[in-house]
Amino acid sequence: MGQFDTEQELQLMKKSIDDFVEREVRPVEEEYEDVLIPDYAGLQPDGRLKDRTLEAINTIRRKSAETGFYGMHMPESVGGMDVGLQQQLDLIQHIYSHGFGLNVRMVEAGAGPSTVYMNLDDDLVDEFLRPAVRAEKTACFAMTESSSGSDALDMRTTATKDGDEWVVSGEKMWITNAPYADFGQVYAVTDPDAKKSRRISAFLFDTSDPAFEVKRVIRILLNDGDHAEVAFNDLRIPDRYLMGERGRGLSLALENINETRLKQTARCAGLMDYLADRCVEYANDRTSWGAPIGQRQHVRRLVADIVAWQATAETLLQRGTWEVEHGTNAIQACAIANRFATQKLFEAADNAIQVFGGNGLTHEYGIERILRRARVMRVSEGTIEMQTETIAKEAGLGRAVGM
Ligand SMILES: Cc1cc2nc3c(=O)[nH]c(=O)nc-3n(C[C@H](O)[C@H](O)[C@H](O)COP(=O)(O)OP(=O)(O)OC[C@H]3O[C@@H](n4cnc5c(N)ncnc54)[C@H](O)[C@@H]3O)c2cc1C
Repeated sequence: MGQFDTEQELQLMKKSIDDFVEREVRPVEEEYEDVLIPDYAGLQPDGRLKDRTLEAINTIRRKSAETGFYGMHMPESVGGMDVGLQQQLDLIQHIYSHGFGLNVRMVEAGAGPSTVYMNLDDDLVDEFLRPAVRAEKTACFAMTESSSGSDALDMRTTATKDGDEWVVSGEKMWITNAPYADFGQVYAVTDPDAKKSRRISAFLFDTSDPAFEVKRVIRILLNDGDHAEVAFNDLRIPDRYLMGERGRGLSLALENINETRLKQTARCAGLMDYLADRCVEYANDRTSWGAPIGQRQHVRRLVADIVAWQATAETLLQRGTWEVEHGTNAIQACAIANRFATQKLFEAADNAIQVFGGNGLTHEYGIERILRRARVMRVSEGTIEMQTETIAKEAGLGRAVGM
């Protein structure tokens, strides 16, 4: 498969996503329901995922990789499909329009393959990236520390040169997929005396090295068992594991920031699609005083808001994509799209719970989990305030004091 030349080919791809969800995802969800619903049933007492939960997730990852969805954003040279940004976003939105179940494992951000690893030597690409495209290995991204989140460059972790190796020391916080990843990218200070933007470098690391330690799994409202506090206890990394140039870690981390924000927007637009459809179905079916609740003005308003927010998110997504591909202010357009979509997904999930009444609060209907996911989104990939900051700066106010 490759880039889709026509709208018809793209529609066929969406149809094959629908078929995949019905044929591959839903049966696995049924088979593993005991560890998927409620989501905390999938966790061990220490917060890690049970083997059976991981088995369900990995089954979908591998099947998605066999079909080509998993690595669709990666170059063909490493086994991907080289799908362009606009079509990727369209497909991500489509995958999420099936809700927040195992279908979201069909394409993944941090744990899946990333083009950032194309900065490595060919033999490392063969060893780590190609298996990631096949979903045989997963990854993690280690930047945040307990005392530096939004201000990530204020990190304490260091990498010191020793012959033809680097020695990495420090602790990282919130690292998604760290307990299960086979490899990762770690950001560390290599040049403390350089200006802030040139102090940090990025390195590939192998999680099987005993000097890499997962200290604890951080339990959050999503019960996903995915995020960990980790330590690099003088982890020795060969020089050739340096990703890109020394001192250019910041540029590497920011390389895909616009695309990352648009992907988040696409996920939100897809989930709002899902919420709108479920609400319409439910409101047409559920009756009170002898009439469907969808005939009640207050309920109609709840649903209409979801539909309007979804449409606006989709429009902002298209605008952001156009800016990335042709424009001059992509950074602001992508921040606007991400900020609007993550805020409105939260409100949309809240509205949907209201439409479903008591049923919306239960684990069975899959609605309340979207509310919890939406809440996390407003922090995890750059907070709402950081997006606001970008918008204000680009609007002409310049940088905020001290930033
Ligand atoms: C579920 C989850 C998964 C994550 N996964 C990863 C991962 O895989 N890898 C990784 O490296 N990191 C990861 N993170 C970390 C994430 O990037 C940070 O949580 C995020 O950048 C915010 O940092 P913080 O939590 O330290 O909050 P802080 O930076 O301490 O901010 C606290 C509050 O102050 C506000 N604030 C801070 N500075 C300013 C300012 N200058 N102006 C206005 N408001 C400000 C923030 O917006 C926020 O509301 C993850 C986080 C979560 C919750």
